[in-house]
Amino acid sequence: MATSDASPGADPAPQQPGARVAELRALLERYGYEYYVLDAPSVPDAHYDELFRELQRLEAEHPELASADSPTQRIGAPALAGFATVRHAIPMLSLANAFDEQDLAGFDRRVRESLAAAGLPEPELRYSAELKYDGLAVTLRYENGRFASGCTRGDGSSGEDVTANLRTVSAVPLRLRELAPAVLEVRGEIVMFRSDFARLNERQAAAGEKLFVNPRNAAAGSLRQLDPAITARRPLRFFAYGVGEVRGVEVAQSHAALLDWLERIGFPVGRERSMVAGAQEMFAFATRVANLRAQLDYEIDGVVYKVDRRDWHEAIGSVARAPRYAIALKFAAEEAVTELLDIEVQVGRTGVLTPVARLRPVFVGGTTVSNATLHNEDEIRRKDLRVGDRVVVRRAGDVIPEVVRALPREAAGNDEESGFVPFQMPGACPVCGAQVVREEGEAAWRCVSGLFCPAQRKQALLHFAQRRAMDIEGLGEKLVDALVDAQWVNTPADLYGLDAERLATLERMGEKSAANLVAAIARSRATTPARLLFALGIRHVGEEVARALAAEYPDLDALAQEDWERVQAHKQEVMRENARRRSRGEAAAAIPLEGVGPEIIASVARFFADPHNRAVIAQLRAAGVGWDGPAPVSGAQPLAGRSFVITGTLASMTRAEAADRLRALGATVASSVSAKTDYLVAGDAPGSKLERARSLGVAVLDEEGLLGMIENRE
Ligand code: NAD
Repeated sequence: MATSDASPGADPAPQQPGARVAELRALLERYGYEYYVLDAPSVPDAHYDELFRELQRLEAEHPELASADSPTQRIGAPALAGFATVRHAIPMLSLANAFDEQDLAGFDRRVRESLAAAGLPEPELRYSAELKYDGLAVTLRYENGRFASGCTRGDGSSGEDVTANLRTVSAVPLRLRELAPAVLEVRGEIVMFRSDFARLNERQAAAGEKLFVNPRNAAAGSLRQLDPAITARRPLRFFAYGVGEVRGVEVAQSHAALLDWLERIGFPVGRERSMVAGAQEMFAFATRVANLRAQLDYEIDGVVYKVDRRDWHEAIGSVARAPRYAIALKFAAEEAVTELLDIEVQVGRTGVLTPVARLRPVFVGGTTVSNATLHNEDEIRRKDLRVGDRVVVRRAGDVIPEVVRALPREAAGNDEESGFVPFQMPGACPVCGAQVVREEGEAAWRCVSGLFCPAQRKQALLHFAQRRAMDIEGLGEKLVDALVDAQWVNTPADLYGLDAERLATLERMGEKSAANLVAAIARSRATTPARLLFALGIRHVGEEVARALAAEYPDLDALAQEDWERVQAHKQEVMRENARRRSRGEAAAAIPLEGVGPEIIASVARFFADPHNRAVIAQLRAAGVGWDGPAPVSGAQPLAGRSFVITGTLASMTRAEAADRLRALGATVASSVSAKTDYLVAGDAPGSKLERARSLGVAVLDEEGLLGMIENRE
C-alpha cells in the first residue's frame, strides 16, 4: 500500500497511533533526505512542518512510542559522501518553533521559570530579535584572523567540509578586520538573493539544465558542489547570526552586542534586529518584519528570539535538537498543498482560451485560494498538471496565486487507470462551439468567431463600457451577461438602442436603475476619438496607442480608410532618412506614429478591413456617438505644448487620473523622460526617472506643485 501523507484530519481511515507514527517517520525521513541531502524537496516546508508537528504530538501522547532515532529527535542529515566530515567543536542545533503569540508566551514563561530556578534575575530578561534567514547553516572557522575552514551543519554534531566552496563566496571574509584571535567560529546562513535566483534559473533553463525549486535549495545545492568552480559561478551570500568556538578574544555577553561586533569585524548581519521583552513585544517585532518580508531581496521564513544574556544560556539549557533559550516564530507559509479539482477553460475578450485551475480551497499567504490561472496549454504541459493531482499553490505578498507544480503521483497503474488524464485543450470554443486556432509563435488558442461568441461579446462590452473607455457607469458583469443572454445586445452599438422601460423588465433591475443606465449610456455618446478607439477593443491597441493614433487621425473616418501599407512604407522611409540626417549631424524629422510598431499597424488594418467592424462603427455613428472631429475640449488648453512625465505614487489620485487631467488641459504625457520633457511629476518612491530628469535639467514637480498647476488652470 502506498503511504499516505495526507494532512492531519484529511485522512478518513482511523489508524492505530503506532502505525501512524511509523508512517510519519518514514515520510519525514524521505522528505528530509530529499531536502537535506538532495537539495530537491518534493513537498512545501509547511506540509513537512505539519507532519512533523503531528508526529511530535503523537509521541508526546504516547511516550511508549518515543524513539531516539525519530526525526523529531534529530537534526538535518548526515554528511554527503564525497565531502570530508568535520566534527563540530560545539554542536550546531536547530530551533524550536512558535506559530503565534500564545506560543511565544509559553516560551517566555518557560525561560522565566528556568531562570528563576537557577537563581538568575528573571525580571531583567530581554530577547535579541533578528531575522530567520531561509538558507543553509554553516560555521566559518578563523584561525589567527584568517579563514581556515568551513562546514555545513549536517546532523548537528558533524557536517561536511565545504572550505573550498566557501572561499568562493565573496560575502565570506577571508581575513577578520581589526583582530586575529587564535580561534573564532562564526555561524550564519548561506542564502541566495531572489533576484540572483531568478537569473540563475534563467541561465539554467537556457542551458537546458534542471531548475531549482526555490532560493534556499539553490543556495544549498550550489554550496554542496564537489567542484568549487561550480560554486564560484553561483551568486551566494552570507548572513552571520552567532558564534561557535572562541579562543583568544573576549566576546560580548549580550547577543545584540555580539551581532554589532560581527558586523564591525566584516560579516554581513541583517539590518532588522531589535531588543524585546515579553510575548507582546516579541510578536510586534514579528508583525513589523512580516510586513517587510515581500520587500526583502532574500527569503526569510520567520524571526528568531534569543535570550540576550549569553551567559545565561547554559543555565537554561537545550533539548535534543534545539536550545531552550531561543525560539523561531515561523511566518504563514507562502506555499501549500491542495487538490486540483478541475481545469476550466475561459474565453477572454480577444477570444483567447485561458485554462483556470479550480482548487480545493486552501489557506496560503494569508488568504483562501480556490482558483488560479494556468496561463496556457504549454504551461500545463510543462508542469504536467492533471485533474486529481495534489498540487503546490504559491501566493507570496500580493502576487496572484500560482500553481507551482504537482506532487508525484503515487498511485499505481497507467495514467488512464489511475484517473490522472493529461489535460487536453478543447477542440472547439467551450462557449460558442466555434473553431479554435493557435497562431504560429503564439502560446494561446483563440476562438475564431469574434463577436459572434457570447463570451467574447460580453468581455468586449465590458471593455467598451469601462471607465477608461466609454465610461458607462453601472454597466457591470451581471448586467452584461443578462443583456447578451437575452440577445438584446450583440454589439456595443446596440447599447444605444436600449430603452428604460424594457430594461426595467430584467430581473433585479428597478425602474430607477434602468433610467440611470440609459442616462449613463446617453452621456457616453460625447467622447474623444482616443477613448472610442480604445473602447473598440482592437488587438494591441491600448490607451497609449489609441491616443497616438487619434492624434494623427482626429477624424476616425480617415483612420478607417487609411492605406496601411503606404503608412508603413512612409514610416520606414522617414526612419532611413533620419539615419542619413544623423550621420550628417542634422536634426531628425518627426516619425509618423512613433511607438506604433508594425504588429499594431497590421492589427489596426485587419480590424478596419473587417466588414462587421465597419458596420458596428457605422451603427455607433448613427447612434450619435461623437467621434467626428477633434476631441471635445472643454475650455482653453493652457498647457498645450507642454510635455509631462509622471512617476512614483501620488496620494490624491492615480497616475492615470493625473495624466487625464493634464491632457484635458492640452498637455502631452509621455512615459519616458527625455530632453524634450518640460516637467517630471514625482510622487512617492520615484525611481530612476527622477535621476534622469535631474541629469537632463528637467523641472521636477511634487504632487502639490502638480495640483497647483492643474487647479489654477482647470
Ligand atoms: P529550522 O530551519 O526551522 O531552524 C533552524 C535553522 O534556522 C538553523 O539551523 C539556522 O540554519 C537557521 N537560522 C536562520 N536564521 C537564524 C538566526 N537568525 N539565528 C539562528 N538560526 C537561524 O530548522 P531545521 O532543523 O534546519 O529544518 C527544518 C526546516 O526545514 C523546516 O522549515 C522544514 O519545513 C524544512 N524541511 C523541509 C522539508 C521538505 O521536504 N520540504 C524537509 C525537511 C525539512
